[in-house]
Amino acid sequence: MALRPCSFGFHRFHGKAGTVYPAILRHDDALRWKFWTCPDHALVVDEALTPYEIGDDSLPIKPTSDANTCLTCGGSTQRDNSDAVYVTTYFQGQDRRDFFASIHRNCGRPGFLPE
Ligand SMILES: [Zn+2]
Ligand SMILES: [Zn+2]
Repeated sequence: MALRPCSFGFHRFHGKAGTVYPAILRHDDALRWKFWTCPDHALVVDEALTPYEIGDDSLPIKPTSDANTCLTCGGSTQRDNSDAVYVTTYFQGQDRRDFFASIHRNCGRPGFLPE
């Protein structure tokens, strides 16, 4: 049994938890949090984030072509109506992965990034 319940509905599960670290950046502020996923919900997060993946050798951050796409609604974003979002994931059996996208301020957090 994993130590912590999955952050999606707080159900218990067998196997190792994946860890997800989102950060929403607005001006000089960053809202950072951390949540845990069971292997099944890790797939949901993985699939939702994959278009926004930043490759390993692209540091300093080189946003993907989808970086200006809202993570919540899929619409295109502008600097003045959105916040930047970085997500780092540690899923079982994978190396660290990093993602970069944006979120419209009036869209709010997408459902696949629970508290
Ligand atoms: Zn789960
Ligand atoms: Zn949006």
